[in-house]
Amino acid sequence: MSIVSSITCFLNWHEPVRRDVVWNGRVYVGDCSHCGAPIQRRGRRVWRRRKDGAAHSNAPTPSSR
Ligand SMILES: [Zn+2]
Repeated sequence: MSIVSSITCFLNWHEPVRRDVVWNGRVYVGDCSHCGAPIQRRGRRVWRRRKDGAAHSNAPTPSSR
């Protein structure tokens, strides 16, 4: 959470924590390594902040194991 990295985050341009990236059945999701925001992959090297619906606020990482 530094000032420098937050600039890209402010522009909604995030970078995931690689080891935390998971496939949720539709898209790759993870947390931003800079600001910690929940993000999802939108394309090659394009990660955007996830829009969290109120329905899933209790389950940040759904795992059906
Ligand atoms: Zn970020």
